[in-house]
Amino acid sequence: MPIYEYVCNACGFEKDVLQSMSEAPLTDCPSCEKPEFTKKISAPGFRLKGSGWYETDFKTGKKKNLAGDAGGASSGAKAAEAN
Ligand SMILES: [Zn+2]
Repeated sequence: MPIYEYVCNACGFEKDVLQSMSEAPLTDCPSCEKPEFTKKISAPGFRLKGSGWYETDFKTGKKKNLAGDAGGASSGAKAAEAN
């Protein structure tokens, strides 16, 4: 039986619910009893891939900026001092 992650849109209550595929999805929140209980779409693989890609991209971007700024600024200052 698959486990579904439910989250309440009204109060934010979260719960893992063991349900069979044929069973009707829950709608009422067990915490606040509002009909805002919905299945959470969770894709752990996608989330990991996304954060990893983001982190790599961020690091290379920072490196590029630091090298460019330092090189340009120091060479420019030296040239001005010499003259
Ligand atoms: Zn609720």
